[in-house]
Amino acid sequence: MLFTPTVVKNLLKKPATRKYPFEVREPFTKYRGELVMDIDTCIFCGICARKCPSQCIVVDKEKGTWQCDPYACIYCGWCVDSCPTHSLSMKHEHRKPVTEKAEWIEQGTPPKPKKKKAPAENKDDAGSKAAADKKADADEKAEAGKPAEAESKADAGKKADAGKKDEK
Ligand code: SF4
Ligand code: SF4
Repeated sequence: MLFTPTVVKNLLKKPATRKYPFEVREPFTKYRGELVMDIDTCIFCGICARKCPSQCIVVDKEKGTWQCDPYACIYCGWCVDSCPTHSLSMKHEHRKPVTEKAEWIEQGTPPKPKKKKAPAENKDDAGSKAAADKKADADEKAEAGKPAEAESKADAGKKADAGKKDEK
């Protein structure tokens, strides 16, 4: 008799379950369902691979490939949050079931290699050349100053001699 109200209530109420897969519930907003990749905007920086806690992303900058193991992904969304070009995003829906495991590989256009800077030796050469020029200038100035110095010393000597003669 104690259970009668509960039994009556359950008989009148809608069932708590759904007839899945015939009846599918709409996903919640911001639900992390499936990882989506836009390879055209990817710059192959590799940040997503470094941030991924399950290490399921592999980025090859030289070949221009982005690879993910969707069976190791835990859908945490760290790669999405850290991607600087917003190439990664998440769908609200679940990934569809498959019968065979397959790696997820995206082939993009590898970035052009950057132009190499001038070797450090050339820089050193330029530096040493500048230093040598400075030294040469300093030497020239010193040479130019020497005769004047010699002349002034000679004048001083002459004056001293003249003074001695006067004393006599
Ligand atoms: S998906 Fe984003 S974070 Fe990952 S390599 Fe491409 S640009 Fe970098
Ligand atoms: S969602 Fe998380 S586990 Fe999945 S690839 Fe991105 S960082 Fe790795």
